[in-house]
Amino acid sequence: TMACLTAIDAGDGLNAFVHKTPELALEQARAADARLAAGDAPAMCGIPIGVKDLFAVKGVPTQAGSNILRGFKPEYESTVTTKLWGAGAVCLGKLNMDEFAMGSSTESSCYGPAVNPWKVDARKLTPGGSSGGSAAAVAADLCLAATGTDTGGSIRQPAAFCGITGIKPTYGRVSRWGVVAYASSLDQAGPMTRSVRDAAIMLGAMAGHDAKDSTSADLAVPDFEAALSGDIRGKKIGIPREYRLDGMPGEIAALWDRGMDMMRDAGAEIVDISLPHAKYALPTYYVIAPAEASSNLARYDGVRYGHRARLAQGDGITEMYEKTRAEGFGPETQRRIMAGTYVLSAGFYDAYYNRARKVRALIKRDFEQAFAAGIDAILAPATPSSAFGLGEQGGADPVEMYLNDVFTVTLNLAGLPGVAVPVGLDAKGLPLGLQLIGRPWEEADLLNHAYVLE
Ligand code: GLN
Repeated sequence: TMACLTAIDAGDGLNAFVHKTPELALEQARAADARLAAGDAPAMCGIPIGVKDLFAVKGVPTQAGSNILRGFKPEYESTVTTKLWGAGAVCLGKLNMDEFAMGSSTESSCYGPAVNPWKVDARKLTPGGSSGGSAAAVAADLCLAATGTDTGGSIRQPAAFCGITGIKPTYGRVSRWGVVAYASSLDQAGPMTRSVRDAAIMLGAMAGHDAKDSTSADLAVPDFEAALSGDIRGKKIGIPREYRLDGMPGEIAALWDRGMDMMRDAGAEIVDISLPHAKYALPTYYVIAPAEASSNLARYDGVRYGHRARLAQGDGITEMYEKTRAEGFGPETQRRIMAGTYVLSAGFYDAYYNRARKVRALIKRDFEQAFAAGIDAILAPATPSSAFGLGEQGGADPVEMYLNDVFTVTLNLAGLPGVAVPVGLDAKGLPLGLQLIGRPWEEADLLNHAYVLE
Protein backbone atom coordinates (compact mmCIF):
# COMPACT_ATOMS: atom_id res chain seq x y z
CA THR A 1 0.00 0.00 0.00
CA MET A 2 2.81 2.41 0.87
CA ALA A 3 4.59 1.64 -2.40
CA CYS A 4 1.43 2.29 -4.39
CA LEU A 5 0.62 5.53 -2.55
CA THR A 6 4.18 6.72 -3.19
CA ALA A 7 3.96 5.81 -6.89
CA ILE A 8 0.61 7.61 -7.22
CA ASP A 9 1.97 10.68 -5.42
CA ALA A 10 5.06 10.74 -7.60
CA GLY A 11 2.80 12.23 -10.26
CA ASP A 12 2.87 9.76 -13.06
CA GLY A 13 1.37 12.14 -15.61
CA LEU A 14 -1.20 9.50 -16.47
CA ASN A 15 -4.22 11.22 -14.86
CA ALA A 16 -5.41 7.77 -13.79
CA PHE A 17 -6.25 8.44 -10.12
CA VAL A 18 -8.69 11.34 -9.87
CA HIS A 19 -9.38 11.10 -6.11
CA LYS A 20 -6.86 9.62 -3.71
CA THR A 21 -7.85 8.05 -0.40
CA PRO A 22 -4.56 7.61 1.52
CA GLU A 23 -6.13 7.73 4.99
CA LEU A 24 -8.68 5.08 4.11
CA ALA A 25 -5.94 3.01 2.47
CA LEU A 26 -3.68 3.09 5.52
CA GLU A 27 -6.55 2.28 7.86
CA GLN A 28 -7.57 -0.69 5.72
CA ALA A 29 -3.94 -1.81 5.30
CA ARG A 30 -3.45 -1.80 9.10
CA ALA A 31 -6.63 -3.81 9.52
CA ALA A 32 -5.32 -6.25 6.89
CA ASP A 33 -2.03 -6.57 8.81
CA ALA A 34 -4.00 -7.39 11.94
CA ARG A 35 -6.05 -10.02 10.12
CA LEU A 36 -2.90 -11.57 8.66
CA ALA A 37 -1.27 -11.62 12.09
CA ALA A 38 -4.38 -13.33 13.47
CA GLY A 39 -4.17 -15.97 10.74
CA ASP A 40 -7.49 -14.85 9.26
CA ALA A 41 -6.47 -13.76 5.75
CA PRO A 42 -9.32 -13.51 3.23
CA ALA A 43 -8.77 -13.72 -0.54
CA MET A 44 -7.59 -10.15 -1.11
CA CYS A 45 -6.13 -9.36 2.28
CA GLY A 46 -3.97 -6.24 2.05
CA ILE A 47 -4.17 -5.97 -1.75
CA PRO A 48 -4.23 -2.27 -2.77
CA ILE A 49 -6.68 -1.57 -5.59
CA GLY A 50 -8.17 1.37 -7.47
CA VAL A 51 -11.90 1.87 -7.97
CA LYS A 52 -13.48 3.20 -11.15
CA ASP A 53 -15.23 6.50 -10.39
CA LEU A 54 -18.57 4.82 -11.22
CA PHE A 55 -18.71 2.87 -7.92
CA ALA A 56 -20.14 4.55 -4.84
CA VAL A 57 -17.57 4.57 -2.05
CA LYS A 58 -19.02 6.08 1.11
CA GLY A 59 -17.76 9.58 1.82
CA VAL A 60 -15.44 9.57 -1.22
CA PRO A 61 -16.22 11.71 -4.30
CA THR A 62 -18.09 9.61 -6.86
CA GLN A 63 -18.63 11.62 -10.04
CA ALA A 64 -18.81 9.05 -12.85
CA GLY A 65 -16.40 11.35 -14.70
CA SER A 66 -19.11 14.01 -14.93
CA ASN A 67 -19.38 17.63 -13.92
CA ILE A 68 -23.02 17.08 -13.06
CA LEU A 69 -21.93 14.99 -10.07
CA ARG A 70 -19.26 17.46 -8.98
CA GLY A 71 -18.81 17.22 -5.24
CA PHE A 72 -21.16 14.24 -4.83
CA LYS A 73 -20.10 12.05 -1.92
CA PRO A 74 -22.42 9.09 -1.47
CA GLU A 75 -23.77 8.16 1.94
CA TYR A 76 -23.67 4.53 0.91
CA GLU A 77 -21.24 1.95 -0.41
CA SER A 78 -21.71 -0.14 -3.57
CA THR A 79 -22.16 -3.87 -3.05
CA VAL A 80 -19.02 -4.61 -5.08
CA THR A 81 -16.78 -2.37 -2.98
CA THR A 82 -18.42 -3.59 0.25
CA LYS A 83 -17.49 -7.14 -0.79
CA LEU A 84 -13.95 -6.13 -1.79
CA TRP A 85 -13.25 -4.40 1.52
CA GLY A 86 -14.75 -7.44 3.26
CA ALA A 87 -12.28 -9.62 1.34
CA GLY A 88 -9.44 -7.48 2.72
CA ALA A 89 -8.76 -5.24 -0.30
CA VAL A 90 -7.37 -1.74 0.29
CA CYS A 91 -8.84 1.35 -1.43
CA LEU A 92 -6.21 3.67 -2.96
CA GLY A 93 -8.74 5.99 -4.61
CA LYS A 94 -11.01 6.59 -7.58
CA LEU A 95 -9.99 6.09 -11.19
CA ASN A 96 -10.59 8.15 -14.29
CA MET A 97 -13.21 7.16 -16.86
CA ASP A 98 -15.30 8.49 -19.71
CA GLU A 99 -18.29 10.52 -18.54
CA PHE A 100 -20.98 8.05 -17.39
CA ALA A 101 -18.89 5.30 -19.04
CA MET A 102 -19.73 6.60 -22.50
CA GLY A 103 -16.67 6.37 -24.68
CA SER A 104 -13.65 4.34 -25.70
CA SER A 105 -10.79 6.72 -24.85
CA THR A 106 -11.50 8.46 -21.46
CA GLU A 107 -11.53 11.73 -23.41
CA SER A 108 -15.12 12.48 -22.41
CA SER A 109 -14.06 12.61 -18.74
CA CYS A 110 -14.62 15.82 -16.76
CA TYR A 111 -11.13 15.29 -15.33
CA GLY A 112 -9.47 15.33 -18.74
CA PRO A 113 -8.19 12.18 -20.44
CA ALA A 114 -6.17 9.46 -18.80
CA VAL A 115 -2.95 8.53 -20.59
CA ASN A 116 -1.69 5.08 -21.56
CA PRO A 117 1.63 4.21 -19.84
CA TRP A 118 2.74 2.50 -23.09
CA LYS A 119 4.65 4.85 -25.38
CA VAL A 120 6.18 4.57 -28.82
CA ASP A 121 6.96 8.17 -29.74
CA ALA A 122 6.25 11.63 -28.39
CA ARG A 123 2.48 11.20 -28.82
CA LYS A 124 0.26 10.58 -25.81
CA LEU A 125 -1.80 7.45 -26.37
CA THR A 126 -5.24 6.70 -24.99
CA PRO A 127 -5.56 3.87 -22.47
CA GLY A 128 -8.95 3.17 -24.08
CA GLY A 129 -12.23 3.57 -22.27
CA SER A 130 -14.41 3.87 -20.55
CA SER A 131 -12.38 2.17 -17.77
CA GLY A 132 -9.20 3.82 -19.08
CA GLY A 133 -7.99 5.07 -15.69
CA SER A 134 -8.33 1.54 -14.30
CA ALA A 135 -6.32 -0.01 -17.13
CA ALA A 136 -3.62 2.69 -17.06
CA ALA A 137 -3.21 2.42 -13.28
CA VAL A 138 -2.87 -1.37 -13.33
CA ALA A 139 -0.48 -1.33 -16.31
CA ALA A 140 1.68 1.35 -14.65
CA ASP A 141 1.83 -0.59 -11.34
CA LEU A 142 0.05 2.20 -9.43
CA CYS A 143 -2.24 -0.47 -7.98
CA LEU A 144 -2.35 -4.25 -8.05
CA ALA A 145 -5.80 -4.40 -9.62
CA ALA A 146 -8.82 -2.22 -10.30
CA THR A 147 -12.55 -2.41 -10.73
CA GLY A 148 -14.04 -1.71 -14.13
CA THR A 149 -17.47 -1.82 -15.70
CA ASP A 150 -18.37 -3.05 -19.16
CA THR A 151 -21.54 -2.01 -20.99
CA GLY A 152 -20.17 -2.51 -24.48
CA GLY A 153 -16.47 -3.19 -24.01
CA SER A 154 -15.29 -0.82 -21.29
CA ILE A 155 -13.33 -3.48 -19.42
CA ARG A 156 -12.02 -5.45 -22.40
CA GLN A 157 -10.99 -2.63 -24.76
CA PRO A 158 -8.87 -0.66 -22.24
CA ALA A 159 -7.40 -3.94 -20.95
CA ALA A 160 -6.32 -4.74 -24.52
CA PHE A 161 -4.90 -1.24 -25.08
CA CYS A 162 -2.84 -1.38 -21.87
CA GLY A 163 -1.68 -5.00 -22.00
CA ILE A 164 -3.63 -6.26 -18.99
CA THR A 165 -6.43 -8.76 -18.35
CA GLY A 166 -10.09 -7.88 -17.83
CA ILE A 167 -13.24 -9.94 -17.56
CA LYS A 168 -16.83 -8.87 -18.09
CA PRO A 169 -18.86 -11.46 -16.20
CA THR A 170 -22.25 -12.90 -17.17
CA TYR A 171 -24.98 -10.29 -16.75
CA GLY A 172 -26.27 -10.79 -13.21
CA ARG A 173 -23.10 -12.36 -11.77
CA VAL A 174 -22.01 -9.13 -10.06
CA SER A 175 -24.38 -6.74 -8.28
CA ARG A 176 -24.98 -3.39 -9.93
CA TRP A 177 -26.18 -1.84 -6.68
CA GLY A 178 -24.31 1.39 -5.97
CA VAL A 179 -22.76 1.50 -9.46
CA VAL A 180 -23.86 4.62 -11.37
CA ALA A 181 -26.14 3.33 -14.14
CA TYR A 182 -25.38 3.83 -17.83
CA ALA A 183 -27.46 1.20 -19.69
CA SER A 184 -28.92 -1.08 -17.04
CA SER A 185 -29.64 -4.14 -19.19
CA LEU A 186 -26.01 -4.20 -20.36
CA ASP A 187 -23.91 -2.86 -17.45
CA GLN A 188 -21.76 -5.33 -15.57
CA ALA A 189 -18.78 -4.79 -13.26
CA GLY A 190 -15.63 -6.87 -13.33
CA PRO A 191 -11.94 -7.00 -12.37
CA MET A 192 -9.01 -5.52 -14.32
CA THR A 193 -5.77 -7.21 -13.35
CA ARG A 194 -2.23 -8.15 -14.31
CA SER A 195 -2.99 -11.83 -14.79
CA VAL A 196 -5.78 -14.32 -15.34
CA ARG A 197 -5.17 -15.74 -11.87
CA ASP A 198 -5.62 -12.31 -10.28
CA ALA A 199 -8.83 -11.85 -12.30
CA ALA A 200 -10.13 -15.18 -11.00
CA ILE A 201 -9.38 -14.25 -7.39
CA MET A 202 -10.85 -10.77 -7.67
CA LEU A 203 -13.96 -11.89 -9.54
CA GLY A 204 -14.61 -14.35 -6.72
CA ALA A 205 -14.47 -11.45 -4.27
CA MET A 206 -16.82 -9.24 -6.34
CA ALA A 207 -19.46 -11.76 -7.42
CA GLY A 208 -22.57 -13.08 -5.75
CA HIS A 209 -26.27 -12.64 -5.27
CA ASP A 210 -27.50 -9.33 -3.88
CA ALA A 211 -31.11 -8.77 -2.86
CA LYS A 212 -30.61 -5.05 -3.60
CA ASP A 213 -30.16 -5.73 -7.35
CA SER A 214 -33.20 -7.50 -8.81
CA THR A 215 -31.16 -8.59 -11.85
CA SER A 216 -28.47 -10.23 -9.74
CA ALA A 217 -28.57 -14.03 -10.04
CA ASP A 218 -29.12 -16.23 -7.03
CA LEU A 219 -26.32 -18.64 -7.90
CA ALA A 220 -23.39 -19.93 -5.91
CA VAL A 221 -20.03 -18.34 -6.76
CA PRO A 222 -17.61 -21.03 -7.91
CA ASP A 223 -13.95 -21.08 -6.95
CA PHE A 224 -12.67 -19.43 -10.13
CA GLU A 225 -9.03 -19.80 -9.17
CA ALA A 226 -9.31 -23.54 -8.54
CA ALA A 227 -10.56 -23.97 -12.12
CA LEU A 228 -7.26 -22.70 -13.62
CA SER A 229 -5.67 -25.94 -14.73
CA GLY A 230 -4.69 -24.91 -18.26
CA ASP A 231 -6.24 -28.16 -19.45
CA ILE A 232 -8.44 -27.45 -22.47
CA ARG A 233 -7.88 -30.75 -24.27
CA GLY A 234 -10.85 -31.69 -26.38
CA LYS A 235 -12.53 -28.29 -26.01
CA LYS A 236 -14.09 -26.72 -29.07
CA ILE A 237 -13.11 -23.14 -29.83
CA GLY A 238 -15.43 -21.29 -32.21
CA ILE A 239 -14.02 -18.78 -34.69
CA PRO A 240 -16.89 -16.57 -35.86
CA ARG A 241 -16.40 -15.85 -39.54
CA GLU A 242 -18.43 -12.62 -39.33
CA TYR A 243 -15.73 -11.15 -37.10
CA ARG A 244 -13.25 -11.29 -39.98
CA LEU A 245 -14.08 -7.79 -41.13
CA ASP A 246 -13.17 -6.37 -44.53
CA GLY A 247 -10.00 -4.37 -44.18
CA MET A 248 -9.02 -5.99 -40.88
CA PRO A 249 -5.40 -4.98 -40.25
CA GLY A 250 -2.94 -7.79 -40.96
CA GLU A 251 -1.57 -7.53 -37.44
CA ILE A 252 -4.97 -8.22 -35.91
CA ALA A 253 -5.57 -11.17 -38.22
CA ALA A 254 -2.09 -12.52 -37.37
CA LEU A 255 -2.74 -12.14 -33.63
CA TRP A 256 -6.00 -14.03 -34.00
CA ASP A 257 -4.18 -16.84 -35.86
CA ARG A 258 -1.59 -16.94 -33.11
CA GLY A 259 -4.35 -17.31 -30.50
CA MET A 260 -5.80 -20.22 -32.49
CA ASP A 261 -2.36 -21.88 -32.59
CA MET A 262 -1.96 -21.49 -28.83
CA MET A 263 -5.32 -23.14 -28.21
CA ARG A 264 -4.63 -25.89 -30.75
CA ASP A 265 -1.25 -26.56 -29.13
CA ALA A 266 -3.06 -26.97 -25.82
CA GLY A 267 -5.21 -29.69 -27.35
CA ALA A 268 -8.35 -27.75 -28.30
CA GLU A 269 -10.15 -28.06 -31.60
CA ILE A 270 -10.63 -24.92 -33.70
CA VAL A 271 -14.06 -24.76 -35.34
CA ASP A 272 -15.36 -22.29 -37.90
CA ILE A 273 -18.73 -20.93 -36.72
CA SER A 274 -21.27 -18.38 -37.88
CA LEU A 275 -22.93 -15.65 -35.82
CA PRO A 276 -25.04 -14.25 -38.67
CA HIS A 277 -26.50 -11.31 -36.75
CA ALA A 278 -23.22 -10.13 -35.23
CA LYS A 279 -22.86 -7.55 -37.99
CA TYR A 280 -25.90 -5.73 -36.58
CA ALA A 281 -24.54 -5.61 -33.04
CA LEU A 282 -22.95 -2.17 -33.22
CA PRO A 283 -26.04 -0.29 -34.52
CA THR A 284 -28.26 -2.30 -32.15
CA TYR A 285 -26.07 -1.36 -29.22
CA TYR A 286 -26.04 2.32 -30.21
CA VAL A 287 -29.86 2.34 -30.13
CA ILE A 288 -30.38 0.38 -26.90
CA ALA A 289 -27.56 1.87 -24.81
CA PRO A 290 -28.51 5.54 -25.44
CA ALA A 291 -32.21 4.70 -24.92
CA GLU A 292 -31.50 3.28 -21.47
CA ALA A 293 -29.01 6.07 -20.74
CA SER A 294 -31.57 8.78 -21.55
CA SER A 295 -33.87 7.25 -18.96
CA ASN A 296 -31.17 6.64 -16.32
CA LEU A 297 -29.71 10.13 -16.68
CA ALA A 298 -33.09 11.83 -16.19
CA ARG A 299 -32.37 11.74 -12.45
CA TYR A 300 -29.65 14.39 -12.73
CA ASP A 301 -31.95 17.36 -12.46
CA GLY A 302 -30.11 19.77 -10.18
CA VAL A 303 -32.25 18.72 -7.21
CA ARG A 304 -31.08 15.34 -6.06
CA TYR A 305 -27.36 15.15 -6.77
CA GLY A 306 -24.26 17.20 -7.43
CA HIS A 307 -24.26 20.32 -9.54
CA ARG A 308 -27.02 22.94 -9.80
CA ALA A 309 -26.73 25.87 -12.22
CA ARG A 310 -26.73 29.45 -10.93
CA LEU A 311 -30.16 30.82 -11.79
CA ALA A 312 -31.25 34.26 -12.97
CA GLN A 313 -34.05 36.37 -11.54
CA GLY A 314 -37.36 34.96 -12.78
CA ASP A 315 -36.00 31.52 -13.68
CA GLY A 316 -38.40 28.71 -12.80
CA ILE A 317 -37.92 25.00 -12.36
CA THR A 318 -37.75 24.38 -16.12
CA GLU A 319 -34.86 26.82 -16.50
CA MET A 320 -33.19 25.19 -13.51
CA TYR A 321 -33.34 21.76 -15.17
CA GLU A 322 -32.26 23.09 -18.55
CA LYS A 323 -29.34 25.15 -17.32
CA THR A 324 -28.12 22.47 -14.90
CA ARG A 325 -28.17 19.74 -17.53
CA ALA A 326 -26.65 21.96 -20.24
CA GLU A 327 -23.76 22.88 -17.92
CA GLY A 328 -23.35 19.53 -16.19
CA PHE A 329 -23.37 17.06 -19.07
CA GLY A 330 -20.56 17.01 -21.61
CA PRO A 331 -21.17 16.86 -25.37
CA GLU A 332 -21.05 13.06 -25.77
CA THR A 333 -23.49 12.52 -22.91
CA GLN A 334 -25.85 15.14 -24.34
CA ARG A 335 -25.63 13.45 -27.75
CA ARG A 336 -26.58 10.08 -26.22
CA ILE A 337 -29.45 11.55 -24.20
CA MET A 338 -30.84 13.14 -27.36
CA ALA A 339 -30.37 10.00 -29.47
CA GLY A 340 -31.93 7.88 -26.73
CA THR A 341 -34.90 10.19 -26.28
CA TYR A 342 -35.44 10.18 -30.04
CA VAL A 343 -35.47 6.38 -30.41
CA LEU A 344 -37.88 6.07 -27.49
CA SER A 345 -40.26 8.78 -28.72
CA ALA A 346 -43.79 7.70 -29.68
CA GLY A 347 -43.26 8.26 -33.40
CA PHE A 348 -39.98 6.36 -33.70
CA TYR A 349 -40.20 3.72 -30.98
CA ASP A 350 -41.18 0.87 -33.30
CA ALA A 351 -38.77 1.82 -36.05
CA TYR A 352 -35.72 2.02 -33.76
CA TYR A 353 -36.00 0.83 -30.19
CA ASN A 354 -38.40 -2.05 -30.77
CA ARG A 355 -36.51 -3.19 -33.83
CA ALA A 356 -33.23 -3.06 -31.93
CA ARG A 357 -34.78 -5.23 -29.21
CA LYS A 358 -35.77 -7.82 -31.82
CA VAL A 359 -32.30 -7.85 -33.37
CA ARG A 360 -30.83 -8.20 -29.90
CA ALA A 361 -32.86 -11.39 -29.43
CA LEU A 362 -31.47 -12.73 -32.73
CA ILE A 363 -27.90 -11.92 -31.70
CA LYS A 364 -28.46 -13.81 -28.46
CA ARG A 365 -29.93 -16.77 -30.34
CA ASP A 366 -26.85 -17.00 -32.58
CA PHE A 367 -24.69 -17.54 -29.51
CA GLU A 368 -27.14 -20.02 -28.00
CA GLN A 369 -27.04 -22.08 -31.19
CA ALA A 370 -23.23 -22.04 -31.25
CA PHE A 371 -23.03 -23.25 -27.65
CA ALA A 372 -25.79 -25.80 -28.20
CA ALA A 373 -23.70 -27.20 -31.06
CA GLY A 374 -20.93 -27.96 -28.58
CA ILE A 375 -18.73 -24.86 -28.78
CA ASP A 376 -16.99 -24.23 -25.44
CA ALA A 377 -15.58 -20.75 -26.06
CA ILE A 378 -15.43 -18.26 -28.90
CA LEU A 379 -12.12 -16.62 -29.81
CA ALA A 380 -11.98 -13.18 -31.44
CA PRO A 381 -9.89 -10.03 -31.44
CA ALA A 382 -10.68 -7.60 -28.61
CA THR A 383 -10.14 -4.41 -30.61
CA PRO A 384 -9.71 -3.46 -34.27
CA SER A 385 -6.38 -1.69 -33.55
CA SER A 386 -3.81 -1.00 -30.85
CA ALA A 387 -4.06 2.18 -28.73
CA PHE A 388 -4.51 5.37 -30.76
CA GLY A 389 -3.32 8.87 -29.95
CA LEU A 390 -5.27 11.31 -27.78
CA GLY A 391 -7.37 13.59 -29.97
CA GLU A 392 -7.03 11.31 -32.97
CA GLN A 393 -10.51 9.85 -33.10
CA GLY A 394 -14.11 10.94 -32.82
CA GLY A 395 -13.53 14.66 -33.18
CA ALA A 396 -15.79 15.60 -36.08
CA ASP A 397 -17.38 12.17 -36.38
CA PRO A 398 -18.52 10.40 -33.20
CA VAL A 399 -19.15 7.19 -35.16
CA GLU A 400 -15.38 6.87 -35.70
CA MET A 401 -15.07 6.35 -31.94
CA TYR A 402 -18.04 3.95 -31.84
CA LEU A 403 -16.29 1.66 -34.36
CA ASN A 404 -13.77 0.73 -31.64
CA ASP A 405 -16.54 -1.33 -30.04
CA VAL A 406 -17.20 -3.54 -33.06
CA PHE A 407 -15.86 -6.73 -31.43
CA THR A 408 -16.96 -6.08 -27.86
CA VAL A 409 -20.63 -4.97 -27.83
CA THR A 410 -22.03 -8.26 -29.22
CA LEU A 411 -21.70 -10.26 -26.03
CA ASN A 412 -23.13 -7.52 -23.81
CA LEU A 413 -26.31 -7.66 -25.90
CA ALA A 414 -26.42 -11.42 -25.23
CA GLY A 415 -25.51 -11.09 -21.52
CA LEU A 416 -22.50 -13.40 -21.95
CA PRO A 417 -19.15 -13.36 -20.16
CA GLY A 418 -16.05 -12.21 -22.06
CA VAL A 419 -12.41 -11.87 -21.14
CA ALA A 420 -9.64 -9.90 -22.82
CA VAL A 421 -6.07 -11.18 -22.47
CA PRO A 422 -2.85 -9.56 -23.74
CA VAL A 423 -1.37 -11.81 -26.41
CA GLY A 424 1.28 -9.83 -28.21
CA LEU A 425 2.63 -6.54 -29.45
CA ASP A 426 2.05 -4.83 -32.76
CA ALA A 427 4.86 -3.67 -35.06
CA LYS A 428 5.08 -0.40 -33.09
CA GLY A 429 5.54 -2.32 -29.85
CA LEU A 430 2.05 -1.66 -28.44
CA PRO A 431 -0.03 -4.34 -26.72
CA LEU A 432 -2.78 -6.23 -28.52
CA GLY A 433 -5.42 -8.38 -26.87
CA LEU A 434 -7.61 -11.28 -27.80
CA GLN A 435 -11.05 -11.92 -26.46
CA LEU A 436 -12.74 -15.15 -25.38
CA ILE A 437 -16.51 -15.38 -25.05
CA GLY A 438 -18.02 -18.07 -22.85
CA ARG A 439 -21.27 -19.74 -21.90
CA PRO A 440 -23.47 -17.94 -19.39
CA TRP A 441 -22.37 -18.55 -15.77
CA GLU A 442 -19.27 -20.44 -16.89
CA GLU A 443 -16.67 -17.79 -16.09
CA ALA A 444 -14.56 -20.49 -14.39
CA ASP A 445 -14.22 -22.41 -17.65
CA LEU A 446 -13.77 -19.17 -19.60
CA LEU A 447 -10.91 -18.04 -17.37
CA ASN A 448 -9.30 -21.46 -17.76
CA HIS A 449 -9.35 -20.96 -21.53
CA ALA A 450 -7.87 -17.48 -21.10
CA TYR A 451 -5.13 -18.98 -18.92
CA VAL A 452 -3.87 -20.83 -22.00
CA LEU A 453 -3.47 -17.56 -23.93
CA GLU A 454 -1.49 -15.86 -21.19
N1 GLN B 1 -17.49 2.43 -25.84
C1 GLN B 1 -18.83 2.00 -25.58
C2 GLN B 1 -19.72 3.18 -25.37
O1 GLN B 1 -19.25 4.25 -25.55
C3 GLN B 1 -18.86 1.07 -24.40
C4 GLN B 1 -18.71 1.76 -23.11
C5 GLN B 1 -18.87 0.87 -21.95
O2 GLN B 1 -18.73 -0.36 -22.03
N2 GLN B 1 -19.24 1.47 -20.81
O3 GLN B 1 -20.86 3.09 -25.07
